[in-house]
Amino acid sequence: MDRRQFFGSSLIAGIGLTGAGITQASAKTTAELDKRKDAKLRISCQLAPAPGKTIEEKLAAMKKYGCEAVEYSGNVVGKGKEFKKLADDAGLKVSAICWGSHNGDLCKEDTGRIQFVKDALKAALETAGELEAQGVIYVPAFANQTTLSNQEIRKRCLDFLPEVGEFAVKNKTFIILEPLCRFEAFFLRQVADGASIARDCGGLAKGVSVMGDFYHMDTEETNNMGAFISAGELLKHVHLAGGRAEPRRTFPGQNNLSFVEGFRGLKYIGYQGFCSFECGCAGDKAVEFPKSIEFLKKQWDEA
Ligand code: MG
Repeated sequence: MDRRQFFGSSLIAGIGLTGAGITQASAKTTAELDKRKDAKLRISCQLAPAPGKTIEEKLAAMKKYGCEAVEYSGNVVGKGKEFKKLADDAGLKVSAICWGSHNGDLCKEDTGRIQFVKDALKAALETAGELEAQGVIYVPAFANQTTLSNQEIRKRCLDFLPEVGEFAVKNKTFIILEPLCRFEAFFLRQVADGASIARDCGGLAKGVSVMGDFYHMDTEETNNMGAFISAGELLKHVHLAGGRAEPRRTFPGQNNLSFVEGFRGLKYIGYQGFCSFECGCAGDKAVEFPKSIEFLKKQWDEA
């Protein structure tokens, strides 16, 4: 195909897309798309940021200071009943399993490794189902785990995620793609990147969703409200952390990052999923954790 043919075919495709866009835009009014009255701030926390020494103490602290859920890490896979009981006993739900990339096996030159991540991700989704968690947070690869281009990685995702996502649906949970800053995942930086991959996989019907992490969004997004609106119903989780300024990636309220604009986006889409602490702490967690939760509630009210 030469340049003239290329632009000719692009023009035809472009007209088609524009036509579809007009149809979509005229389907609902702005007022109908505004779901602010449905939105809720529901706070969750990973174990590491929570005050306390034992897991029981940490879960009790979360409950005491107003969290609704705990976010577990990948070490709970295969132990769903045990960790569900711990959450139940503390009066908490489980928001998600923060699982990772499985060494970037989806994105290696050796395609033989894809079966490893497929089996392992399915096991994690099974446990997420037992935990009644919203989903398993998955990064296809960290930047230093792959030599593929972003186009190649996107194709791998579209070939891989729908089948594993169907397994997620059977377990009443989701794969949740986590966009990261450019230094950690050059192919999945903005919330809209993850949302468009999820959409092209078939979206929630295929068990594929996206999340936003305020720390990474501080580097990558031009507008946090727009970022969350671009995900819409595909948004199934949020990570809470301060931004790049010092003290970097600590409890919300400990550095200069404002959450108001992002919360405004969450409100607009009627978000009712969890917002979960994934961050460090400057100072004493027992003092700073409740302060941070109060800060977030104020920011939500301002949004
Ligand atoms: Mg995160």
